[in-house]
Amino acid sequence: MQDKVKIGYRTYVIKEDGIADKSENWGDIIHKTGEIHIEESLSLQHKQEILLHEIIHGIGAICMNDELIEKQISSLAYAFAMVIRDNPQMFMDIIKGLK
Ligand SMILES: [Zn+2]
Repeated sequence: MQDKVKIGYRTYVIKEDGIADKSENWGDIIHKTGEIHIEESLSLQHKQEILLHEIIHGIGAICMNDELIEKQISSLAYAFAMVIRDNPQMFMDIIKGLK
């Protein structure tokens, strides 16, 4: 899994350490320390989905004045995971185009 992600001006360190509260959350983003925690016992696919969810939390905090609510973040993460999964080459092309 990736070990860091840059969101705007912040670089978050990704830790698979099971620190997140498993009963409520499988992941967590802590803006104060610049860390994203992912539950270590999840499958790689589930970890990537949780990472995407936490990245959208970070985008919401940095670019949208933290105005997204949890339900919107979950819906966006689910939708992005679905579109990325179904169109991998398109995302590779977008990455090439953005450089
Ligand atoms: Zn969340």
